[in-house]
Amino acid sequence: MSEPLDVAILGGGNAGYACALRAAQLGLSVAMVERDKVGGTCLHRGCIPTKALLHSAELVDNIRRAGDFGVLVGEPAIDWGKVLGYQSAVVTKLYKGLQAVIKARKVSTIAGSGVLVAPDTIEVDGAQALHARAIVLASGSYARSLPSIPLDGAGFISSDHALKLEDIPASVIVIGAGAVGLEFASLYRSFGATVTIVEALPRLAPGEDEEVSTELTRQFRKRGITSITGVKVTGATTTGAGATVTYQSAQGEERSLTAERCLVAVGRGPVSDGLGYEDQGVRLERGYVVVDDWCRTGVDGVWAIGDLITQPSLGLPIPHLQLAHVAFAEGIHVAEQIAGQADPALVDYLGVPRCTYSSPEMASVGYTEAQARAAEFDVEVARYPWAASGKASILGEPAGFVKAVAEKGGRVLGVHMIGPRVTELIAEAQLIVNWEAYPAEVAALLHPHPTLSEAMGETMLHLAGKQLHGA
Ligand SMILES: Cc1cc2nc3c(=O)[nH]c(=O)nc-3n(C[C@H](O)[C@H](O)[C@H](O)COP(=O)(O)OP(=O)(O)OC[C@H]3O[C@@H](n4cnc5c(N)ncnc54)[C@H](O)[C@@H]3O)c2cc1C
Repeated sequence: MSEPLDVAILGGGNAGYACALRAAQLGLSVAMVERDKVGGTCLHRGCIPTKALLHSAELVDNIRRAGDFGVLVGEPAIDWGKVLGYQSAVVTKLYKGLQAVIKARKVSTIAGSGVLVAPDTIEVDGAQALHARAIVLASGSYARSLPSIPLDGAGFISSDHALKLEDIPASVIVIGAGAVGLEFASLYRSFGATVTIVEALPRLAPGEDEEVSTELTRQFRKRGITSITGVKVTGATTTGAGATVTYQSAQGEERSLTAERCLVAVGRGPVSDGLGYEDQGVRLERGYVVVDDWCRTGVDGVWAIGDLITQPSLGLPIPHLQLAHVAFAEGIHVAEQIAGQADPALVDYLGVPRCTYSSPEMASVGYTEAQARAAEFDVEVARYPWAASGKASILGEPAGFVKAVAEKGGRVLGVHMIGPRVTELIAEAQLIVNWEAYPAEVAALLHPHPTLSEAMGETMLHLAGKQLHGA
């Protein structure tokens, strides 16, 4: 048997490749097994292709209202083939870049399907065995459906199918009002489709602060997007007219909706079936690998990271977030542990920024107001409306607000935003919350005028009791 590797990683998505790159940087010998393409969901079927589509959608919206700014261009025409071409060019460019970095760091990428056959061995395609001192499970997630809805790629589609459709549907039902569902609802509407969102929980964006959800529903309604919340989907059929979804209303009445397509965006399940994890003593819960806050599985030398994991021990007010930047952080953290670094920083799960790139955008970090109250903080709240911002008015986007939740006389606990470019602005809020800043400290720092970033300064001024603009 050849000398064992330092690390063998099963899966080359964000989690797996971040772990591989950091481990290699720390001088470890690393092999990464990938059955499809390195970059995983995020690069090929998630973050990047969807944001490319959303960028085209934003251009369409901006062209439609260009006349408001004195620029006369007429109704935009959409060449869907070119939209998809631009999207795939972005993905290809980034894919090549990633492959080059992986090669430059001397990570060996093994093409094939991996199975954990011993706590220190991954078998690839039943042929090659990789022995390593440390094994990292990073097999990611897949688009789930509801038991009553088989995904056929025609009437009923997942986000994977949606990225490959050859035309823009004239009408769409979106089941699920989390980030993925909302982003597709938003972009389909921009491209001219009739859009109805169906959500089981009582509001859109159920993970966000309630005021943000309310504002989103209002703005989506203004854009012509219908939202049906608090209902249970009971069945689905494909008819000549397209996809029909039946649901039970909040009052218990059976109702139905028909559209050309139905996008099912009800979350993502773990890829762990048949991969040998349980056989080797790794504990699964609903298919997710159970880990502690160091991403250890309980089996010596075996870690798990990314969308695949659940962390019941943390007892946080939020579940483990299936996000690319969480996967990156976990990959780096585990690589540093394996390399024996004295004090690898733990991933701070409460401080994870969350973004939804719909129109309007939403972004948040830390406690919502309800979570802060449930955690018995003495809560203080400040809001700054975009209507008071010079830059938002210049952009013609005065709807929405920045809301900060703080401990009375203490640190900032959470920031919640809806409106223009807030997915970029969340970076500052993330520093404020994670460095446990006091509002007066941030308020003393200058924000350039006129920029959208001033809204953060104004919200902190408000909490410090000295707001300049705004009520
Ligand atoms: C439509 C959509 C939009 C998204 N947008 C965002 C966003 O804007 N921002 C954000 O932060 N997150 C976003 N996400 C989530 C993000 O994509 C995931 O959190 C991230 O990809 C998780 O990385 P991962 O490495 O854990 O899993 P994955 O990216 O799923 O990677 C797992 C890899 O393992 C491979 N694999 C699985 N089993 C095996 C096996 N047996 N052998 C070999 N290889 C195997 C797979 O082929 C895959 O490449 C989005 C997701 C979707 C679906």
